[in-house]
Amino acid sequence: MMVPFHVLPDITGPTPVIDVDRVQDNIRGMADKARAAGVAFRPHFKTHQSRDIGRQFREAGVDAITVSSVAMAETFAADGWRDILIAFPFNLRELDRVNRMDPEIRLHLLVDHEHTIEALKTGLTRSVGCYLKIDSGYGRSGVRWDRPERIARMVLALNGPLSFTGFLTHAGHAYQAADSVEILRIVEKTCRRMSSLRACMTARDIRVPVVSIGNTPGCTLARRFPDVDEIRPGNFVFFDLMQWRLGVCEAKRLAFALVCPICGIYPERGELVVMGGAVHFSKEKLDLPDGPCYGMGIGMTTGGFGELQPDIRLVALSQEHGVVRAPESLLETVSIGDRLAFVPVHSCLTADLYPAYRTPDGGTVPRVNSVDLRGAAFRE
Ligand code: PLP
Repeated sequence: MMVPFHVLPDITGPTPVIDVDRVQDNIRGMADKARAAGVAFRPHFKTHQSRDIGRQFREAGVDAITVSSVAMAETFAADGWRDILIAFPFNLRELDRVNRMDPEIRLHLLVDHEHTIEALKTGLTRSVGCYLKIDSGYGRSGVRWDRPERIARMVLALNGPLSFTGFLTHAGHAYQAADSVEILRIVEKTCRRMSSLRACMTARDIRVPVVSIGNTPGCTLARRFPDVDEIRPGNFVFFDLMQWRLGVCEAKRLAFALVCPICGIYPERGELVVMGGAVHFSKEKLDLPDGPCYGMGIGMTTGGFGELQPDIRLVALSQEHGVVRAPESLLETVSIGDRLAFVPVHSCLTADLYPAYRTPDGGTVPRVNSVDLRGAAFRE
């Protein structure tokens, strides 16, 4: 049974906490996986957005990274990263900002439209690499993999300040998979479609330097990535309930939790209320067989995280309230003012709401977040 813990007594409101040993293991595990599979590792930094955690990746041998905004690219460029991919269909409104970035940085942009390519050629005052975004089945963005004529024309249009880095795809539909077998099938199909596209290019004398794939479910479960050169997972640094539920990670790899103070106890309903609502977690939910779940309890000691507690569950969120269903044994032992820790459904979204992480031994690990990065534009 999880008892309210006594670590971090200075925490007074919803606060993100990471288990540094688990973060380290998750980073090493994925770096080793990439090495064993013979692919380059370009991790997505949008999950942690922390220079300190970024340095742990560097220690694991990583020298090229993925981010999802120009602002995030600037943040990591300022910490010495010299090979950065902004993996979002390029926002032409940010062209000037890209022109202002250090020309020494190998910057790669993502494009999936002829108009973007032409506007970049006209407006760029520096050179950039371009990944062409390929839709290999997710249906979110990118040119469909089975349109080789159009893709070839777009590749041939990459000249002047633009060079062709390669093809990039993101099989985000892996998150809708029923289980790990289906995730592996999606990896296999993604690799096959990208390989056939590369063959179509070879037949037209177009060399594809890099084929880049990657999400956490596929990269964690698969051992081989045939005809792929690079993987870009990001969420694995913390994992979360979504990954655990999909069978992607074991509970002992969950490395991120939100500590929330108890503000109400309702034994007659079998529930507690914590300060920890949608503004603190985001509103991502899992539909479990016995009802919705917005977060699950996890133990915590100064040494790190303890056991996941599936019977302590956030079952409803409003703006600031989190309603927790908990067993009688917990309801009888807790007091108002005690704190509980919860693993969120989607760690990327929850972490992005905060300016720093705490560690169970009392430390603080700074990070940036999208709200502050967007706010900076108003302060300029
Ligand atoms: N690459 C791209 C283009 C993405 O959009 C994402 C995540 O959304 C990733 C890589 C990383 O995937 P994951 O969050 O599953 O690790």
